[in-house]
Amino acid sequence: MSKKIFVTCALPYINADPHLGHVFEFVQGDCFVRFNKIIGNEVYFTAGTDENSLKNIIASHEHNIGIKEWIDQKTASFLKLKDDFNISFDDFIRTTEERHRLGAQKLWSNINKNDIVKKNYEGLYCIGCETFYTESELVNGLCPEHKKAPEKITEENYFFVLKNYKEFLIEKIENQEWIIKPETRKNEMLSFLKGDILDISVTRSKKRSEGLGIEIPEDKDQVLWVWIDALSNYINVLNYGKDDNSLFEKWWNNSDERWHFLGKGILRFHAVFWPAFLKSAGLKLPTHLFCHGYITVNGEKMSKSLGNFTDPKELLKKYPLDSIRYYLMKDIPSGDDGDFSEVNLISRHNNELCASYGNLISRTLALGEKYGKAINLKSNDLKADIDTIVKNYIDNFSKVKINDVVSNAFELVARINKYISDEKPWSLIESDPENFERIISSSTVAILYAATLLWPIMPSSSQKIFESIGIKINKIDDIKNVLNQNITFKKPENLFNRI
Ligand SMILES: [Zn+2]
Repeated sequence: MSKKIFVTCALPYINADPHLGHVFEFVQGDCFVRFNKIIGNEVYFTAGTDENSLKNIIASHEHNIGIKEWIDQKTASFLKLKDDFNISFDDFIRTTEERHRLGAQKLWSNINKNDIVKKNYEGLYCIGCETFYTESELVNGLCPEHKKAPEKITEENYFFVLKNYKEFLIEKIENQEWIIKPETRKNEMLSFLKGDILDISVTRSKKRSEGLGIEIPEDKDQVLWVWIDALSNYINVLNYGKDDNSLFEKWWNNSDERWHFLGKGILRFHAVFWPAFLKSAGLKLPTHLFCHGYITVNGEKMSKSLGNFTDPKELLKKYPLDSIRYYLMKDIPSGDDGDFSEVNLISRHNNELCASYGNLISRTLALGEKYGKAINLKSNDLKADIDTIVKNYIDNFSKVKINDVVSNAFELVARINKYISDEKPWSLIESDPENFERIISSSTVAILYAATLLWPIMPSSSQKIFESIGIKINKIDDIKNVLNQNITFKKPENLFNRI
């Protein structure tokens, strides 16, 4: 049965240009979305930019650019990732858009006012995280995420009484109704919830926000705290705040699964705060959260200040897009930190994409072309292997074990390569056309499976393979319909060239 699945990537702050971590998250989300499409699910996929953040204001001051101009420029560079990295977003929302303001205010007004208290607060605020920290959460007096001392801030703000949702959330997580992956992140959030839960500030002074931010109707001196504001994008992109909310009805209220993809630095906001706000406002919760780690270089977080920064734009100038996507999904652990290395990227490109995969496609199709006659795709000698591999692939992808998914697809590639080496179809082309056709048919059917399984990771290469075989594939099940079709082969251009 086909499912309806809503998938989001987190909204990046736009205090700098996109880095490889953003690309990784977008590609990971995109692979998961495309995977769901090839197994026949209906998917809606969104992301956007978090524009109302104090960090953006500070960055614009540092660069002597007006805030409006700054956010327009930076948002454009994030939006460009969609085309540059072939990300299949259905929509992209900016938190300065009207539909976002309407939705954020509606969420605020629907939040149960028994959960809100107004009080004077003096606390340690990390602008990087846009959140207050307690002394005990700091590491040597520094924010654990940004390694910077937080500022002491005194303000009268509205607070959300998070502990009202402590038991509710623990139960949801333990009963697997709110699924947090990987397991280590789930345990982290359970131990956070089982500790002392402080009230969280949900508004901030308008003075500090320089005109950015979303006003709360009952208090003109306050704007929404950026995390209520930003998180609400996930429903605002579905027009939650607008009169016509058919998208919201379809993808939030009536979808089978609602997935958030995000990085570990913003786990708590998504895993705990967001479902608490939704519950308080009487709304449905998301169903799944997948948390990835950071891309590191020799174990260190990638950063401009450390000089180990890889600019995604530069990477694209040097390597084919599909090779970058393949490398990131194969080498960086799906749910953990992983080291980025251009040496490994090149080696995977040369050894796996050129020598193993690309070579398989070109030699099989070249043999078909050399044969000169159409071949009927009636033989499928590798059916048993294909069935097992497809089953494992679907199982791993459902768990977002994308590294394993890539290995599954490459098991099939290796299996076809071995089959061709064992069967030696080139020696039968004239002496035994019947067996030649059987081998080419079986290899071609298996190649169609491999290309379909790899389509979520490398969409344009798979597309080229489908086109050169002359067959249109949208779902894994479509391959069954092409059996018994006659194929006239022509050798494709090289899919991958050695670097
Ligand atoms: Zn911080």
